Amino acid sequence: LVRAVGVRKSFGHAEVLRGVDLSVDGGRVVCLLGPSGAGKSTFLRCVNHLETIDAGRIWVDGRPVGFTQRGGKLHELREREVARRRRDIGMVFQRFNLFPHRTAAENVAEGPVHVLRTPKKAALAEARALLDRVGLADKAGSYPHQLSGGQQQRVAIARALAMRPKLMLFDEPTSALDPELVGEVLDVMADLARDGMTMIVVTHEIGFARQVADEVVFLVDGAVVEAGPPGQVLDNPRQQRTQQFLAKVL
Ligand code: ATP
Ligand code: MG
Repeated sequence: LVRAVGVRKSFGHAEVLRGVDLSVDGGRVVCLLGPSGAGKSTFLRCVNHLETIDAGRIWVDGRPVGFTQRGGKLHELREREVARRRRDIGMVFQRFNLFPHRTAAENVAEGPVHVLRTPKKAALAEARALLDRVGLADKAGSYPHQLSGGQQQRVAIARALAMRPKLMLFDEPTSALDPELVGEVLDVMADLARDGMTMIVVTHEIGFARQVADEVVFLVDGAVVEAGPPGQVLDNPRQQRTQQFLAKVL
């Protein structure tokens, strides 16, 4: 479902991604690990059309990100088309960014109502079903400030799912949470994975990577240092950089 080949990205003189190759088959979960500044967030942003890449190519669902193919040639996408393609990708960040003056259900229904033109009543009914799925059936009428961080993040996940994405990207979704709230969010993500969602997850939660990931990719200085099944990369890392990193986070 996702295939990145030789992806390069610079900000000014700094080359942040130096030829990243990464593939995710449909229904699989890839955990992206690596030290701060490795380029993990930048890579997710490239997949989600939030950054343009300097070289290489990323395909999502068979289509090159940022381009359309016509007559064997690639043409740059217009803004509108980029926005349309981005709808197929759900993204969850460290900060949940819910609308403070809308209830949990209204937050979840927002995208379907305004972007997909779903009738409000139907969107709210679907929102409640999604909130149920993330364990928040009884919080549909609550406002963000009435919810814990873990609950807010679960609303954010439900909000992303409301757009019926083909792919979910998570950028350190639990790193802003109090430790006792991390588990409930990871549980929701593990459920999603079990239901067959294709996911790329940037995380420092090694336990989650070990249990849920099909593949772990370790990124350092904009390049993939090591990739493979979690048992191999996490328990028997071949590269010294991976060993050093794991020694620090474990
Ligand atoms: P962290 O674990 O701290 O979130 P990361 O692996 O997600 O790190 P990125 O956020 O992708 O790393 O950043 C990689 C590098 O790119 C960093 O050196 C950062 O300063 C730089 N960078 C990211 N975005 C921009 C930008 N918009 N303009 C300039 N430099 C940027
Ligand atoms: Mg980051």
